Amino acid sequence: MYIAKETRYDNMKYNYCGASGLKLPAVSLGLWHNFGSNGNFDTMMDMCETAFDNGITHFDLANNYGPYDGAAEENFGKILDKSLRPYRDEMIISTKAGYTMWPGPYGDWGSKKYLVASLDQSLKRMGLDYVDIFYHHRPDPNTPLEETACALDGIVRSGKALYVGISNYNKEQTIEIAKLFKEMKTPFIINQRRYNMFDREMEEDGLKDYAAANGIGIITFCPLAQGLLTNRYLNGIPEDSRIRTDGRFLKETAINEETIAKVRALNVIAENRGQTLAEMALAWILRDNDITSVLIGASRPSQILDNIGMLANMTFTQEEREKIDRITK
Ligand code: NDP
Repeated sequence: MYIAKETRYDNMKYNYCGASGLKLPAVSLGLWHNFGSNGNFDTMMDMCETAFDNGITHFDLANNYGPYDGAAEENFGKILDKSLRPYRDEMIISTKAGYTMWPGPYGDWGSKKYLVASLDQSLKRMGLDYVDIFYHHRPDPNTPLEETACALDGIVRSGKALYVGISNYNKEQTIEIAKLFKEMKTPFIINQRRYNMFDREMEEDGLKDYAAANGIGIITFCPLAQGLLTNRYLNGIPEDSRIRTDGRFLKETAINEETIAKVRALNVIAENRGQTLAEMALAWILRDNDITSVLIGASRPSQILDNIGMLANMTFTQEEREKIDRITK
């Protein structure tokens, strides 16, 4: 029987999620890859337990994480049953809806019909009464924003989610929906966006500064650029890497001389800081104290431990910041 480590809260840092009373760990674990029907269940369980034993209280899912759609939620439900469920009140579990989930006009995007039905399915798959955060996964250009916002508000009032989040909304879209949430007093607390040294879109569209100034939490996905910002691909493409084992989203073409030259240069800065490149890439995201949590993925427990190691050195000199900008911008 799994018993969580007593030391689990000793080293993790917890940040308030925007202006809310909810704290998230500086490092959260996402189940997008390696938790589907093609993954090894024992490794999945080991990763979740390693995460929880080291203060990662937040587990991020979505209706469609797999393969197949829904498989990651099913596997997470099994992991809860086998080990973590007694700790439910120490956990923040999130899920999302917004991408294609089932055939026909009601299995996608942002209608109330889709969001309510999808969350009910997610709760069943995980064996939960409620999730802590329910996200709209992507903006829907064709559904009135009021409908999506009201659906999320209603979901919270029905008790099936405690907080509301949005994902992949840019600054303008965030401002618009936040206005609606404010009118309804919806506990909207977070936007989930892609952000890493190689992908600065969230800085460029102004969301990073806007969220910090307006009490909206930010959790950043693909903080390691799916593994590029680690030592994974410094010497070719390993057979057990995401490119080879999955390749749906990170493709071999991402490994080219120009990118690897940048990764090598970044790796030198990391070494001089006494960190792995993965640690530095994660610490860099949190450098301005305006991001709530970095949402990592992992294929094995040791990566989770490596990534948590970044907590030991999270400050950057002006010179290091400039060097990193010169290499990556
Ligand atoms: P990362 O950028 O953290 O990439 C994770 C991958 O990098 C791992 O699977 C592993 O790949 C490699 N890796 C991780 N740590 C190390 C390490 N220390 N050393 C070497 N390699 C390492 O994030 P993901 O792309 O996995 O995304 C994270 C989460 O973000 C998802 O699970 C999901 O919850 C969320 N997400 C949300 C989206 C949205 O639209 N809202 C979209 C995408 C993701 P390998 O297999 O090669 O070992």
